[in-house]
Amino acid sequence: MHDPNGLLIHEIYASIQGESSFVGWPCTFVRLSRCNLRCRWCDTPQAFEGGERRSLEDVLSEALAHETPLVEVTGGEPLLQAATLPLLRALCDAGRTVLLETSGERDISAVDPRVHRIVDFKAPGSGECERNRWSNVQRLTRRDEVKLVLADRADYEWARRVIAEHGLAQRAGAVLLSCVWGELEPAQLIAWMLEDRLPARFQLQAHKYIWGGDAAGV
Ligand code: SF4
Repeated sequence: MHDPNGLLIHEIYASIQGESSFVGWPCTFVRLSRCNLRCRWCDTPQAFEGGERRSLEDVLSEALAHETPLVEVTGGEPLLQAATLPLLRALCDAGRTVLLETSGERDISAVDPRVHRIVDFKAPGSGECERNRWSNVQRLTRRDEVKLVLADRADYEWARRVIAEHGLAQRAGAVLLSCVWGELEPAQLIAWMLEDRLPARFQLQAHKYIWGGDAAGV
Protein backbone atom coordinates (compact mmCIF):
# COMPACT_ATOMS: atom_id res chain seq x y z
CA MET A 1 0.00 0.00 0.00
CA HIS A 2 1.38 3.41 -0.99
CA ASP A 3 2.14 5.19 2.31
CA PRO A 4 4.49 8.20 1.81
CA ASN A 5 4.41 9.33 5.46
CA GLY A 6 1.14 7.97 6.74
CA LEU A 7 -1.58 10.33 7.89
CA LEU A 8 -1.88 12.93 10.64
CA ILE A 9 -5.15 11.89 12.29
CA HIS A 10 -7.27 13.94 14.69
CA GLU A 11 -9.83 11.20 15.43
CA ILE A 12 -11.67 8.19 14.04
CA TYR A 13 -15.15 7.44 15.39
CA ALA A 14 -18.59 6.16 14.49
CA SER A 15 -21.67 8.40 14.64
CA ILE A 16 -24.50 9.26 12.29
CA GLN A 17 -23.98 11.35 9.20
CA GLY A 18 -25.20 14.86 10.13
CA GLU A 19 -25.27 16.46 6.67
CA SER A 20 -25.44 15.76 2.93
CA SER A 21 -27.79 13.39 1.09
CA PHE A 22 -26.54 10.66 3.42
CA VAL A 23 -27.86 12.38 6.58
CA GLY A 24 -29.00 9.97 9.27
CA TRP A 25 -26.98 6.95 8.14
CA PRO A 26 -24.51 5.37 10.55
CA CYS A 27 -21.10 6.51 9.41
CA THR A 28 -17.46 6.19 10.43
CA PHE A 29 -15.61 9.50 10.40
CA VAL A 30 -11.90 9.75 9.71
CA ARG A 31 -10.99 13.29 10.73
CA LEU A 32 -7.58 14.48 9.55
CA SER A 33 -5.60 17.19 11.28
CA ARG A 34 -4.58 20.53 9.75
CA CYS A 35 -6.41 23.07 7.62
CA ASN A 36 -5.02 25.85 5.44
CA LEU A 37 -8.19 27.97 5.79
CA ARG A 38 -9.61 29.75 8.83
CA CYS A 39 -13.35 30.09 8.24
CA ARG A 40 -14.75 32.54 10.77
CA TRP A 41 -17.43 30.11 11.91
CA CYS A 42 -15.38 26.88 11.75
CA ASP A 43 -16.82 24.23 14.09
CA THR A 44 -13.72 22.02 14.15
CA PRO A 45 -10.84 24.38 15.09
CA GLN A 46 -9.55 21.62 17.39
CA ALA A 47 -8.37 19.85 14.22
CA PHE A 48 -6.06 22.77 13.24
CA GLU A 49 -3.24 21.56 15.48
CA GLY A 50 -1.87 18.36 16.88
CA GLY A 51 -2.95 14.94 15.73
CA GLU A 52 -1.26 11.57 15.72
CA ARG A 53 0.82 10.32 12.80
CA ARG A 54 -0.41 6.84 11.87
CA SER A 55 0.25 4.45 9.03
CA LEU A 56 -2.25 4.19 6.22
CA GLU A 57 -2.80 0.52 7.05
CA ASP A 58 -3.56 1.34 10.69
CA VAL A 59 -6.04 4.11 9.75
CA LEU A 60 -7.75 1.87 7.21
CA SER A 61 -8.04 -0.99 9.67
CA GLU A 62 -9.61 1.22 12.38
CA ALA A 63 -12.02 2.83 9.89
CA LEU A 64 -13.19 -0.59 8.72
CA ALA A 65 -13.42 -2.00 12.25
CA HIS A 66 -16.47 0.17 12.99
CA GLU A 67 -18.29 -1.85 10.31
CA THR A 68 -20.44 0.95 8.93
CA PRO A 69 -21.19 0.73 5.20
CA LEU A 70 -20.60 4.50 5.02
CA VAL A 71 -17.24 6.18 5.76
CA GLU A 72 -16.49 9.92 5.57
CA VAL A 73 -12.98 11.33 5.33
CA THR A 74 -13.05 14.88 6.67
CA GLY A 75 -10.96 17.42 8.57
CA GLY A 76 -9.48 19.89 8.78
CA GLU A 77 -8.76 19.68 5.09
CA PRO A 78 -8.11 16.06 4.03
CA LEU A 79 -6.58 16.91 0.65
CA LEU A 80 -3.58 18.62 2.30
CA GLN A 81 -2.18 15.13 3.02
CA ALA A 82 -0.84 13.02 0.16
CA ALA A 83 -1.89 9.71 1.71
CA THR A 84 -5.56 10.75 1.69
CA LEU A 85 -5.86 9.68 -1.96
CA PRO A 86 -4.71 6.08 -1.37
CA LEU A 87 -6.84 5.94 1.80
CA LEU A 88 -9.95 6.90 -0.19
CA ARG A 89 -9.09 4.32 -2.83
CA ALA A 90 -8.56 1.57 -0.25
CA LEU A 91 -11.89 2.36 1.47
CA CYS A 92 -13.65 2.06 -1.91
CA ASP A 93 -11.79 -1.21 -2.63
CA ALA A 94 -13.07 -2.50 0.72
CA GLY A 95 -16.63 -1.97 -0.52
CA ARG A 96 -17.50 1.09 1.56
CA THR A 97 -19.56 4.02 0.32
CA VAL A 98 -17.03 6.82 0.75
CA LEU A 99 -17.63 10.53 1.27
CA LEU A 100 -14.90 13.17 1.16
CA GLU A 101 -15.60 16.58 2.70
CA THR A 102 -13.26 19.18 1.22
CA SER A 103 -13.18 22.97 1.30
CA GLY A 104 -13.25 23.78 -2.42
CA GLU A 105 -9.77 25.28 -2.22
CA ARG A 106 -7.89 22.04 -3.06
CA ASP A 107 -7.87 20.46 -6.53
CA ILE A 108 -10.29 17.49 -6.41
CA SER A 109 -9.32 15.94 -9.76
CA ALA A 110 -7.11 13.13 -8.41
CA VAL A 111 -9.78 11.75 -6.05
CA ASP A 112 -10.95 8.21 -6.88
CA PRO A 113 -14.10 8.57 -9.05
CA ARG A 114 -16.00 6.15 -6.77
CA VAL A 115 -15.85 8.72 -3.94
CA HIS A 116 -18.74 11.13 -3.32
CA ARG A 117 -16.98 14.48 -3.06
CA ILE A 118 -18.76 17.06 -0.92
CA VAL A 119 -17.28 20.38 -1.96
CA ASP A 120 -17.78 23.12 0.58
CA PHE A 121 -17.23 26.32 -1.41
CA LYS A 122 -16.79 29.24 0.95
CA ALA A 123 -19.24 32.17 1.08
CA PRO A 124 -17.98 35.73 1.77
CA GLY A 125 -19.12 35.56 5.43
CA SER A 126 -16.54 32.82 6.06
CA GLY A 127 -13.68 35.25 5.32
CA GLU A 128 -12.19 32.68 2.90
CA CYS A 129 -14.24 33.26 -0.27
CA GLU A 130 -11.21 34.37 -2.28
CA ARG A 131 -9.68 30.90 -1.82
CA ASN A 132 -12.38 29.03 -3.78
CA ARG A 133 -10.86 27.08 -6.67
CA TRP A 134 -13.66 27.43 -9.21
CA SER A 135 -11.94 25.11 -11.70
CA ASN A 136 -13.20 22.33 -9.39
CA VAL A 137 -16.69 22.95 -10.78
CA GLN A 138 -15.66 21.45 -14.14
CA ARG A 139 -14.68 18.25 -12.32
CA LEU A 140 -17.96 17.73 -10.46
CA THR A 141 -20.20 14.81 -11.42
CA ARG A 142 -23.73 13.89 -10.35
CA ARG A 143 -22.13 11.68 -7.69
CA ASP A 144 -20.78 14.81 -5.96
CA GLU A 145 -22.50 17.41 -3.79
CA VAL A 146 -21.87 21.13 -3.26
CA LYS A 147 -22.38 22.55 0.21
CA LEU A 148 -22.73 26.28 0.84
CA VAL A 149 -22.84 27.52 4.45
CA LEU A 150 -24.46 30.94 4.72
CA ALA A 151 -24.28 33.57 7.46
CA ASP A 152 -26.57 36.31 6.17
CA ARG A 153 -28.43 37.84 3.22
CA ALA A 154 -25.19 38.82 1.46
CA ASP A 155 -24.03 35.20 1.61
CA TYR A 156 -27.41 34.07 0.28
CA GLU A 157 -27.19 36.45 -2.68
CA TRP A 158 -23.67 35.18 -3.37
CA ALA A 159 -24.99 31.58 -3.30
CA ARG A 160 -27.83 32.45 -5.67
CA ARG A 161 -25.31 34.00 -8.08
CA VAL A 162 -22.74 31.19 -8.04
CA ILE A 163 -25.41 28.49 -8.40
CA ALA A 164 -26.59 30.22 -11.60
CA GLU A 165 -23.18 31.28 -12.97
CA HIS A 166 -21.54 27.87 -12.51
CA GLY A 167 -24.63 25.74 -13.26
CA LEU A 168 -24.07 23.98 -9.92
CA ALA A 169 -27.51 22.33 -9.85
CA GLN A 170 -26.83 20.68 -13.22
CA ARG A 171 -23.26 19.62 -12.47
CA ALA A 172 -23.58 18.20 -8.95
CA GLY A 173 -26.04 15.62 -7.62
CA ALA A 174 -27.16 18.13 -4.98
CA VAL A 175 -26.57 21.73 -3.94
CA LEU A 176 -27.06 21.94 -0.19
CA LEU A 177 -27.57 25.22 1.64
CA SER A 178 -27.17 25.48 5.39
CA CYS A 179 -27.06 28.25 7.98
CA VAL A 180 -24.17 29.34 10.17
CA TRP A 181 -25.35 28.15 13.59
CA GLY A 182 -26.76 31.04 15.66
CA GLU A 183 -26.37 33.62 12.86
CA LEU A 184 -28.93 32.87 10.13
CA GLU A 185 -32.36 31.48 11.02
CA PRO A 186 -33.31 28.37 9.03
CA ALA A 187 -36.85 29.74 8.45
CA GLN A 188 -35.38 32.89 6.91
CA LEU A 189 -33.14 30.96 4.52
CA ILE A 190 -36.04 28.70 3.50
CA ALA A 191 -38.23 31.78 2.80
CA TRP A 192 -35.53 33.25 0.52
CA MET A 193 -35.09 29.91 -1.30
CA LEU A 194 -38.82 29.58 -1.92
CA GLU A 195 -39.14 33.18 -3.06
CA ASP A 196 -36.42 32.64 -5.68
CA ARG A 197 -37.38 29.01 -6.49
CA LEU A 198 -33.73 28.26 -6.01
CA PRO A 199 -32.59 24.87 -7.45
CA ALA A 200 -31.01 23.82 -4.15
CA ARG A 201 -31.80 21.79 -1.04
CA PHE A 202 -32.01 23.23 2.44
CA GLN A 203 -30.16 21.20 5.06
CA LEU A 204 -30.05 21.28 8.84
CA GLN A 205 -26.85 20.23 10.56
CA ALA A 206 -28.57 17.35 12.38
CA HIS A 207 -25.71 16.82 14.84
CA LYS A 208 -26.11 20.35 16.25
CA TYR A 209 -29.78 19.68 17.06
CA ILE A 210 -28.93 16.33 18.66
CA TRP A 211 -25.73 17.22 20.56
CA GLY A 212 -25.89 21.05 20.70
CA GLY A 213 -24.45 24.01 18.84
CA ASP A 214 -20.87 23.26 19.82
CA ALA A 215 -20.96 19.79 18.26
CA ALA A 216 -18.23 19.37 15.68
CA GLY A 217 -19.18 18.46 12.14
CA VAL A 218 -20.17 14.84 11.68
S1 SF4 B 1 -12.20 24.62 5.67
FE1 SF4 B 1 -13.39 23.46 7.18
S2 SF4 B 1 -11.91 22.88 8.79
FE2 SF4 B 1 -10.95 24.49 7.53
S3 SF4 B 1 -11.38 26.40 8.64
FE3 SF4 B 1 -13.00 26.12 7.08
S4 SF4 B 1 -14.66 25.05 8.15
FE4 SF4 B 1 -12.79 24.82 9.41
